[in-house]
Amino acid sequence: MRRKLAAGNWKMNGTGAALSELSALIAVHPHPSCEMLICPPAPLIHRAAALVQGSALAIGGQDCHANETGAHTGDVSAAMLAEAGATHVIVGHSERREDHGESDAQVCAKAQAAIAADLVAIICVGESLAQREGGQTLQVIGAQLAGSVPEQATGANTVIAYEPIWAIGTGKVPTLAEIAEVHDFIRAELTARFGAERAGAVRLLYGGSVKPSNAAEIFAVSNVDGALVGGASLKATDFSPIVAALN
Ligand code: 13P
Repeated sequence: MRRKLAAGNWKMNGTGAALSELSALIAVHPHPSCEMLICPPAPLIHRAAALVQGSALAIGGQDCHANETGAHTGDVSAAMLAEAGATHVIVGHSERREDHGESDAQVCAKAQAAIAADLVAIICVGESLAQREGGQTLQVIGAQLAGSVPEQATGANTVIAYEPIWAIGTGKVPTLAEIAEVHDFIRAELTARFGAERAGAVRLLYGGSVKPSNAAEIFAVSNVDGALVGGASLKATDFSPIVAALN
């Protein structure tokens, strides 16, 4: 049985004052078989992790470097995130792939580094609007999975997030049938590569304009094990009902 997960990605939003949102979230009790996670900007991780200690709220990073240490100005290693109190890290978000030109191979190396540091890697995949309109969605997702998901991926160390780029921050959401098609495809691709038992333990999140008003219907879709939420994770009053929609 896969534990459902509501994960919040604050992106480059939130200063120390935003930690009050976490104080509000730790009063939220997800269904016992579900998990909640917030990924704040890196400078807040240590304080956030201290604040949520002993609660059901986990803290994660938004990216990590593939190397453990070295001359990589501005980057943060997976072990550094873990030491700061993170238990998860997002890798291969489309904003990283676009803004920083990250390739599938780099995303795979980052996921490997995360797993080596005992973090859960949340590996993002998703097609652009042009790719969807060109009928290439499944082909694009298949290639991203093949290139970005490392050999050692298991249900314990890896989560896959399907985030159609055109749905991120736009208020546009694929139909439930479109979400089901991609999630079923991801499950099938993982099954072909890792076998049914291992693939069946990997959680698949949907991300892109998830809100309190659409969370429950998305969570009811085949092979959707939760959500990766951007804008609606910034306020506890928006994220709490999303967490409550998990069961
Ligand atoms: P929004 O929920 O703001 O559309 O962002 C989704 C996302 O990119 C989460 O990683």
